[in-house]
Order: sequence, then structure tokens, then C-alpha cells
Amino acid sequence: MKLLTAENGVKYLVSELLRAPHAFATRVGGLSEAPHTASLNLAFGRGDGDSTVIENLRLFGEAAGFAPESVISLPQIHSDRVLTVGVVDCGEGYFRATDRACDGYVTSERGVTLGVKTADCVPILLEARDENGQTCAVSAIHSGWRGTAQRIVARGVEGLVGLGATPDRIFAAIGPCIGGHCYEVDSDCRAALEAVNRGRGCIADGKNSKYFPDLAALNRLILLDCGLPEGNIDVCGLCTHCEGELFYSHRRQKGLRGTQLSVIFMP
Ligand SMILES: [Zn+2]
Repeated sequence: MKLLTAENGVKYLVSELLRAPHAFATRVGGLSEAPHTASLNLAFGRGDGDSTVIENLRLFGEAAGFAPESVISLPQIHSDRVLTVGVVDCGEGYFRATDRACDGYVTSERGVTLGVKTADCVPILLEARDENGQTCAVSAIHSGWRGTAQRIVARGVEGLVGLGATPDRIFAAIGPCIGGHCYEVDSDCRAALEAVNRGRGCIADGKNSKYFPDLAALNRLILLDCGLPEGNIDVCGLCTHCEGELFYSHRRQKGLRGTQLSVIFMP
């Protein structure tokens, strides 16, 4: 992945693997002024006024090339719920109130931007191509440890397959998240994630019944289990907990933090 800086100052990451326009936001380049949200907070309810969040979304859209009004991003609930959405859903979550919640989206409709919010959890962007190499559907997934244990990214792949894709033509970019070295969990969490890991080396043992799961690597395993070729999966590798200049981190900031947005859109 590459870290880019737009003319307006917004820093964001893109994957060389994806052809569909997409971006993983950092915390750099927005208007949020509180120490814990400075400066590109993209979620309501974290301490910024709503108008600041919307202005940050405009700046991010200007930088990455999407229309803010085209974004759908609903409240997230650490579920495995993936919605199929379309143009009628654009704006829901930012510009229109919603009574829905989910942790992922798929769409095949042009002009729709899918957005997932994270601050240590794993943002995953998926692109399906047709036999001519054209993007035919996209997906965005929010996968924390609960989502990973429920294999939500597999629900995203299934959603794309339901729209006509085949796993060998699905491409995935796993964005910045908390790294395994920084993510200590207890035995309950480990047990839930071991069902995904199955001894494949993505959960390290710590001391005193603590464990260190690598959420990005576990989501990569799920994608491989879904039939994606290894070369179709790009892993960012940056740790939100270590890289405090670039990212908000729920753990490092003890919950008092802003939120990154990751987007992908149908061109
Ligand atoms: Zn780290």
C-alpha cells in the first residue's frame, strides 16, 4: 500500500492491487481540533460537532475522489451482517438518519460509495472483476475480533458471489488495524478466534493466559479459505496502536478517540 498526501492535506492509503477507486483514511488533514479527534475524525458522537465531521468527509472525498453524498455508512454492531445496497441508500448514516445497523456492504450499482469506520478493528475492501477485468461489484467490511470470529469477511465474499463474482476474480485490501504485537486478549477471545486460526500460526501465546491474535492475518486466512488466491490479497501491515501520528487507536487512546473511514466505490 501507498501513503498519499492530497493537495488539501488529507493523508490516506491506497492499495496497488485494487482498480476500483478506494481509500483508507488516516487521522491527518481534517478540521477536528480536540487532541483526541485531531484532525480527520469521520464519525459522529466522538466529541466533534456534526458539521465538523461532515466537513472532514468533504475533505476526504475531495482528496480521494468520491462524492460525500454517495457514501453509505451505518452504525456498526460487531456482527456478521452484510447488506446489499444501492443508489437509493446513498447518504444514509451521514446525511440521513438511519435505524439500520450492520458491519459490511456489497453493491454492484455505479455511483455508490461504501464506508466502514474503524480505530483498531480491521477495515477490508473487496473488488470483484468480470472476465474482462472490469470492476463488477465491491464490498467494504468492518471486522474486529468479534467480526473475525464470525468470519464476516466471508459474508462479504458470499455477497459478491451472489452478484455474479467468482472467488478467483475477487481482490482484497486489508487496511491499517491493531497489530498482533499490540493486541493482548484473554482466553475467551482466543478460543473464539482459534476456530478461524485452526493452528495456522496467527495467534501468539503471551504470559498469564494472555494471547496476541493477528487480526489482519486471520482475515487473510478467511479470504484464502473462501478461495481467493494469495496474490489477490494485499495486507497493509501498519499498526494503528503503534502509529499514533497517523491513526486513531481505541486501545492506545483508551476509548477517547476519533474514527477512521475506509471507502470503496463503484466507478
Ligand atoms: Zn503495534
